[in-house]
Amino acid sequence: MGQPQSKPSKPSIPRFPQPGDHIYCERKGGLYDHHGIYVGDDMVIHLQGAAKKLGELPTCHKCGDKRLVNGEIAKVCIDCFLDGDTLQIYEYGVTYPEFSKRKRGTCCPRYSRPPHLVISAATDFLERNGFGPYDMFTNNCEHFAVCCKTGSADSYQIEGLLKELLILVPLLWLVPLLLWQLIVFRKALAKNQAPGNFCLQLIHGTSITSYL
Ligand SMILES: [Zn+2]
Repeated sequence: MGQPQSKPSKPSIPRFPQPGDHIYCERKGGLYDHHGIYVGDDMVIHLQGAAKKLGELPTCHKCGDKRLVNGEIAKVCIDCFLDGDTLQIYEYGVTYPEFSKRKRGTCCPRYSRPPHLVISAATDFLERNGFGPYDMFTNNCEHFAVCCKTGSADSYQIEGLLKELLILVPLLWLVPLLLWQLIVFRKALAKNQAPGNFCLQLIHGTSITSYL
């Protein structure tokens, strides 16, 4: 009997998107991802990023997108959505162990609604412009796509970022402490104190201020 096969920690083999799929692509070399709902006929509904001027880019002859990011929901062709980046498909219903291994913002342990309800939700948000203005932390493109898929707006990309910050911020407090120790150590050396003696004096309670 063979060894049980564990599921791969990478997303599954790329496939063509189906209507109702949540798709995404990496932006700026993977610094963040952009998300949308594929609604068929090479079209995507997505919540655009924060309003900004992109310069004099030509209007897309395929979907009429004016290439202006205005922080609102838009329906664009898949080429405009991808903007040269690689299409990837967000997965739903992954197991929690699998979810914990994957990059945040690429999959979700919750289950998707049926495709026709996903498309209906995305179209309704588009027609009413009813999802509110874009906000990176509280109302971003992943919140929009996950909401269309599940009925609940979540952004696992932001959750992952916040978790990393929670780990890093306490460690950052160590940096000034270590720098201060280094300065004290260097001053002790400058006064011809052997490092071993310096450490011993610290252990035996000699005032550090005597080295300052
Ligand atoms: Zn287009």
